[in-house]
Amino acid sequence: MKYEVEYLDRETLQALQLERLRKIAAHAYARVPHYREVFEDLGAQPEDLKSLHDLTGIPVTDKETLRQHYPYGMFAVPMAEIKEIHASSGTTGKPTVVAYTHTDLQVWSEVMARSLACCGVTDEDVIQNAYGYGLFTGGLGVHYGALELGAAIVPISAGGTRRQLQLMQDFATTVITCTPSYSIYMAEEARSLGLDPRRSSLRLGILGAEPWSEGMRREIEAAWEMKAYNIYGLSEIIGPGVAQECTGQCGMHLWADHFLPEVVDPETLKPVEEGEDGMLVITTLSKQATPFLRYATKDIVSITHEPCPACGRTSPRISRVKGRTDDMLIIRGVNIFPSQIEGVLTEIEGTEPHYQILVKREGALDSIDVQVEVDERYFSDEIRQLEALERRIRNEIGNVLGIGVGVKLVEPRTIARSEGKAKRVVDTRDM
Ligand code: ADP
Ligand code: ZN
Repeated sequence: MKYEVEYLDRETLQALQLERLRKIAAHAYARVPHYREVFEDLGAQPEDLKSLHDLTGIPVTDKETLRQHYPYGMFAVPMAEIKEIHASSGTTGKPTVVAYTHTDLQVWSEVMARSLACCGVTDEDVIQNAYGYGLFTGGLGVHYGALELGAAIVPISAGGTRRQLQLMQDFATTVITCTPSYSIYMAEEARSLGLDPRRSSLRLGILGAEPWSEGMRREIEAAWEMKAYNIYGLSEIIGPGVAQECTGQCGMHLWADHFLPEVVDPETLKPVEEGEDGMLVITTLSKQATPFLRYATKDIVSITHEPCPACGRTSPRISRVKGRTDDMLIIRGVNIFPSQIEGVLTEIEGTEPHYQILVKREGALDSIDVQVEVDERYFSDEIRQLEALERRIRNEIGNVLGIGVGVKLVEPRTIARSEGKAKRVVDTRDM
């Protein structure tokens, strides 16, 4: 199935975006007191948005705005029109509430179906959906997309790993959808049961909801002998299905006919150059129930508008999410993302992609310790080998981060596994 709107030339796309922006801004202004105030404070009207650039004059909306209006204060339609209510995972505090009208659910189904199709899923596939069903948007989002595409969906939800593996065999599932960390955990569990995950019927995985590195992708692809594709989304914008990698694995195609992206400096909120890292800000161009103008995602990405060399789609592509600004650790004045540490670990032979970063404060000084699981065989080897590995990890992380860190090697299966978003950082500083 080909969606022509993914191949528009830039001018046509921008004209479509502007037309939708003006409509959605008028809708938000008319129905959401918060946005009415925003425009009144600026002494402006939605009709004053004459170009996409004019949008940058509007202050961003963020999780804090949503929390202030908890639960229904940002809704733009009467309850009779609301068909579904969701909440974010609450990774960084009180969950935020979002809602969908009937047409919003249709849009969600469409963008999710486009995401599945983008990396080659068809109506012949059997999708084992191991994203959590519930308030978390991951489960239902993939579900709606699969229905729209016509693929068979197995709504198993997250967890129950042995059952996942059993059904995978019995149903000959071809596509797995879950977090990257859970796919690693499932492979590990399979091996411990004497199964070889490389011989499963899976041909591809659609993995997201948490940051992961290229190294992690290689580990997952090797473990399952399948392709692993990155999917991005957040409940405030619609859920999963905001952006998705194609088979070229060269950035995630962002469905810019529904979601207008900007990449800005997270401190100054000024736009950064194309290709440079910054915070992704998204304006929802079609969502009726909870429209957001300039939603500050806190996710750090870069963007390109170059047509995709692999598939020819012209929709803008965003990079892997380098981290979320909420996860950024500031240790002795240096900014650190957990994904930088993961990047180093997955390059080193002998380590497992299970790690945790412990942050502590002693006196006035902050420090981090990285706990890493290592291959069984290192523990049966001489202690000297282990020490050499530990030193190597310490040096390489130190080189990348520019500050010294502690490293502790631990035996396989000692770090807690997650069926959803992995918890990579344990911060014991009282702040
Ligand atoms: P919460 O913000 O509480 O985690 P959500 O469940 O809406 O709520 O999750 C959205 C967030 O998950 C995104 O803002 C982003 O930080 C993260 N995320 C989603 N997909 C990816 C991905 N492919 N890579 C990295 N991070 C992702
Ligand atoms: Zn592509």
